[in-house]
Amino acid sequence: MAERVISIMVCSGCKSKNYHFVTGKKKERKLEISKFCRKCRKHTPHKETK
Ligand SMILES: [Zn+2]
Repeated sequence: MAERVISIMVCSGCKSKNYHFVTGKKKERKLEISKFCRKCRKHTPHKETK
């Protein structure tokens, strides 16, 4: 059985759940990543949540 971890990235500005990733290894998980937010209309730091 492969362990799958779904990481949901939440915008730190408006708290929108804009992105989610399916990762298999904990090593590959990033706690914070800069992504484009549609609501903020700019790149904002997105933090991982569950
Ligand atoms: Zn936002």
